[in-house]
Amino acid sequence: MKDPIYNDTLIEFNEKILRRKRIHKQRIDDLYKAMPQLKSLHDGINRAGLKLALSSIPGESHKNLENIKNEIASLKDDERSLLQSKGYPEDYLQYKPACKVCMDEGYVEGKRCNCFNSLLIEKYYDQSNLKNILSKENFDTFKMDYYSGDKGPYPVSPKLQMEKILLESIDFVKNFGEESLNLYFFGDPGLGKTFLSHCIAKELLDKGYVVIYQTASEIMDIVRRSKFSSNPEAYQNHPASYLYTCDLLIIDDLGTETLTEFANNELFTLINKRLKDNKKMIISTNLSVNQLEKRYSTRLASRVIGNFHFLEFFGEDIRMKKADIL
Ligand SMILES: [Zn+2]
Repeated sequence: MKDPIYNDTLIEFNEKILRRKRIHKQRIDDLYKAMPQLKSLHDGINRAGLKLALSSIPGESHKNLENIKNEIASLKDDERSLLQSKGYPEDYLQYKPACKVCMDEGYVEGKRCNCFNSLLIEKYYDQSNLKNILSKENFDTFKMDYYSGDKGPYPVSPKLQMEKILLESIDFVKNFGEESLNLYFFGDPGLGKTFLSHCIAKELLDKGYVVIYQTASEIMDIVRRSKFSSNPEAYQNHPASYLYTCDLLIIDDLGTETLTEFANNELFTLINKRLKDNKKMIISTNLSVNQLEKRYSTRLASRVIGNFHFLEFFGEDIRMKKADIL
């Protein structure tokens, strides 16, 4: 499949790793220049390693192998001591990979590692902007002060309700995976649904999960483009397939997309497939349960009702309060 975005991602990924390795090599070269004893220890370790490899053929005496192993261990000890005596950490010479899962190979057990997938998704889904938002909107910056402690016309005070939702969201992150429930955030605009979805996305992205955050309209556009692309065979490997396979799919603004038979069907297929595969979702919407049932097919509404934890946001629009404070 010749997908320009995929190719660009691959080039960027490889360049990033190469750059990291080059910087690491430069750092070591500089150090060897400044400390020639370190370089001769390093050469000694390499020579002994080679000797060990050549001696590992059948018939070689056990004693000889042991001697070489001891020689290497002793040289490594000297290397560590020398580094420490000059104030460097003992692992200073080791390459530190950006991704500890695949050690910057980009693959784990023949599959693309999440570090690569996340970069691809960032490009494909134009999520590069999301990172900026997430630096501002996360659990650390979430403020409960905006929510009123007065019960008013609601069953409980907006503050109490928000505390409950916040705890559920933290639990969702903590138990993310098999056990966690899907979340359905609903209520009027301006009550923090998007903000809280951002908080969850940030935590899980930081943990190395593949997260896609898109509005329902954007998701429908992506599905439509991939289904009606000039090369439908490529669909299987199309980055749109990540909508079905990513660890967490956040569907923002459900209900604002243009509803056609195509959208209704595709949305059902997407949600149903993810539920079957036990892949987690968060839906953020203004639609109450009743409105959900009215807007979508019965089978879609019933899948959502049966498999999501419904959390209602209510109270006064906090965007106004934020504007006052800022
Ligand atoms: Zn990786």
